Amino acid sequence: MASDRQKEIFGLTSSELATLCDELGEPRYRAKQLANWLYRKGARDFDLMTNLPKALRERLKDTISLTRSQIVTKYKAEDGTTKFLLRLADGETIESVLLPYPDRVSVCVSTQVGCPVGCVFCATGATGFARNLTAGEIVDQVLTLSEENRATHVVFMGMGEPLLNFDNLLKAIQLLHDEVGISMRRMTVSTVGITPAIRRMADLKLQLTLAVSLHAPEQDLRKRLVPLSAKYPLEELLSVCKDYADYTKRRITFEYLLLAGVNDSPSHAARLAKLVRGALCHVNLIPFNEVLGKDFRRPSERAIAAFRAVLERHGVQVTQRAERGHTVAAACGQLKRHSVGNASSAV
Ligand code: SAH
Ligand code: SF4
Repeated sequence: MASDRQKEIFGLTSSELATLCDELGEPRYRAKQLANWLYRKGARDFDLMTNLPKALRERLKDTISLTRSQIVTKYKAEDGTTKFLLRLADGETIESVLLPYPDRVSVCVSTQVGCPVGCVFCATGATGFARNLTAGEIVDQVLTLSEENRATHVVFMGMGEPLLNFDNLLKAIQLLHDEVGISMRRMTVSTVGITPAIRRMADLKLQLTLAVSLHAPEQDLRKRLVPLSAKYPLEELLSVCKDYADYTKRRITFEYLLLAGVNDSPSHAARLAKLVRGALCHVNLIPFNEVLGKDFRRPSERAIAAFRAVLERHGVQVTQRAERGHTVAAACGQLKRHSVGNASSAV
């Protein structure tokens, strides 16, 4: 484990690695070699970096930390979906999910340990919030899961609210793009709707897909489901999303969690259609994945189909989240709750 006094190498960008080489009195081309070992080859140990002189490897081992996560548990469902529980250097645990499809391999990564937002239906929110992940800890998840099956796509949709960890998220995106070699177009950031941060993303014109967890067609209901949204009025959120689509020319995804008897009626669908119609977007319906201790139910297949039909009649493009990995407790935060054995108390 990393000592607090040592500088951490995993998570440094190429230019930061170049500065490190300067500090060590090493030529700058070593920075490229280090980046290649760390982010392309996923080396977990300086000893593996065989094109570095032995003396330099020893020096690095003595003075610099190279910290990667450890796999605590791994559950594989029949469809190949594999959920990982990873232990970080300070003993905290997070979840990441590997989702192999015929044409791509997605990894769903966490950005925080727990989540401070506290959506009433969410298992992660119920575990509380411990801390932000560093850029290195975010990138580590992609590389650790890639050891099983090389990731082509990254979705920031695991534990935590990515836009409340903005700087580390941006740095992780940069590392994944520049060093790991994953194009921005293959990355999706899912957010509960932190309006000022979406504005910053729009200004940066990043070519990412933005997925906004809407869950309700009006402010009052949204506030009940996502208490933090009291700070970010729906109207303002939608206007920022429109700017994001205008600036980046990227289609926004509006995620809509379907909760039986709460937000799943045809009238909710009609109001949702009115809100988003005409925007460069589509709606992704997410049938609720039941969480122990949460008093919500998943709507019937009929209710889901009816909701979808109303949106489509209004000209809104709709997709439905593919059901994958049911047997590995796929909804966000559930594996951790099972494994730490606090499922019934963490409500
Ligand atoms: N914090 C971000 C990203 C992580 S949550 C966000 O909220 O967007 C990723 C998605 O999982 C969100 O759309 C969230 O609403 C959804 N989700 C949370 N709990 C769920 C559950 N029990 N069943 C289905 N989806 C859930
Ligand atoms: Fe946090 Fe997203 Fe869960 Fe809400 S749904 S508590 S924002 S992880």
